[in-house]
Amino acid sequence: MSKHWDGLIFGGTAFLPEPLHNSYIGIKDGYITYIGDEKPNVLYEWEYNAEGLAIFPGLIDTHVHFRTPGLEHKEDYFHGTQAAAAGGVTTILDMPNTRPPLEYPQQISEKIAKVTGSSYVDFGFHFLLTNRNLPFIKDSISSKSVASVKVFMAGHETAHHTVYDEEYLTSAAEILAEKGIMLTVHAEYQPLIQGSSIPIYENRAAAVAAVQMLIRIAKKTKCAIHVLHVSTIEELQLLFKAKNENIPITYEVIHPHLAFTHNDYMKLGELLKLRPPLREKKDVEYMWKSLIKGDIQYVSSDHAPHTIKEKKSDIPPAGMPGVQELLPMVYTELFQRTKDVTRTCSLIAKLLGENPSYLFRIANKGKIALGYHADLTFFDYNKKWKLSSEVLYSKCGWSPYENMYFRGLVVKTMLRGKTIYSDGQMVGDAMGHPVNFN
Ligand SMILES: [Zn+2]
Repeated sequence: MSKHWDGLIFGGTAFLPEPLHNSYIGIKDGYITYIGDEKPNVLYEWEYNAEGLAIFPGLIDTHVHFRTPGLEHKEDYFHGTQAAAAGGVTTILDMPNTRPPLEYPQQISEKIAKVTGSSYVDFGFHFLLTNRNLPFIKDSISSKSVASVKVFMAGHETAHHTVYDEEYLTSAAEILAEKGIMLTVHAEYQPLIQGSSIPIYENRAAAVAAVQMLIRIAKKTKCAIHVLHVSTIEELQLLFKAKNENIPITYEVIHPHLAFTHNDYMKLGELLKLRPPLREKKDVEYMWKSLIKGDIQYVSSDHAPHTIKEKKSDIPPAGMPGVQELLPMVYTELFQRTKDVTRTCSLIAKLLGENPSYLFRIANKGKIALGYHADLTFFDYNKKWKLSSEVLYSKCGWSPYENMYFRGLVVKTMLRGKTIYSDGQMVGDAMGHPVNFN
């Protein structure tokens, strides 16, 4: 503990998420220690003038696949977390469908040991529910050790453990409810996909059936259930209704579903293969409207990198990278719809900071507030730029957004008061560590 402050930020507009113009933000020992209009009379080691920039709480991407262990040929923490930092993301929650998958309790500390030292941002894990590991979850998994327990109700190329039996899911939900752990779900009902003659992109019934089942389970068990990558109007309408009835169910949307449609997939091919699949224009517009209204609480990336070679193979895997593109993509599209910088920035701070942090019980993150980590993202909201592959950090080396134009560029990212990314360069050490869960 030093008696000097680490640093002082002034100028710019901080989005706490509420906008605060031209204030001073003081940082001490990695925490926000001061927010005010008066310049504090203290010694500090550095200062940063954020004039003309938006200052967001370090963004939180609750849905990434960093492929460690076992699939590091397409992504690892060293590359994936640099992509995060370059995109203004300072905390990630990593999915468990690795090789081996994260399905036994002792693997959690092994994984922490493996990625510590190569992670540039703070991290947490989702734990996998399979049809054989419920006893271990019951005995050894606590709400302090994992962000959630995830289940795949449908299989695809990267997810071989499917569980869609309502009785089994209900017993899992009962156990998780007692522990205060959320069940997060890839919600497509496998029996309606397997052997179905309906092309996958038109198979909305599989997603709807899964959501209906999850609403029943949440209502019965009072377990908090979180539906990942909701992609259709029908699912959202069911979920809005359930939420109004105080059933403990929440949901996310992911930016590939907000950016592309099935028509894009027909034009651009397997690079855009996704599960659940890309949908229709009407779904995309409904999701944007719901985000602006506040009916959808957050957006994640579902950063799911594969190599170009894999994507162009005979059995292309589903998924695409996106952690670095999350903020510019969502900002660009929201601004286009609201035409209001302040409103859009406030929405960003909520959708990509405060709300995901609250939902996943992440301690001391997601807001610019006293006592919170000084995780900060500095964003030039007027800057227009074109995404080229040279700026990408993901190990897979490509982006579905290549050659597209964005409004708004991350100029600096700080993790616990230390700059980790600045003006197109990574700086400092890989100092990410595991998050604490409330
Ligand atoms: Zn995913």
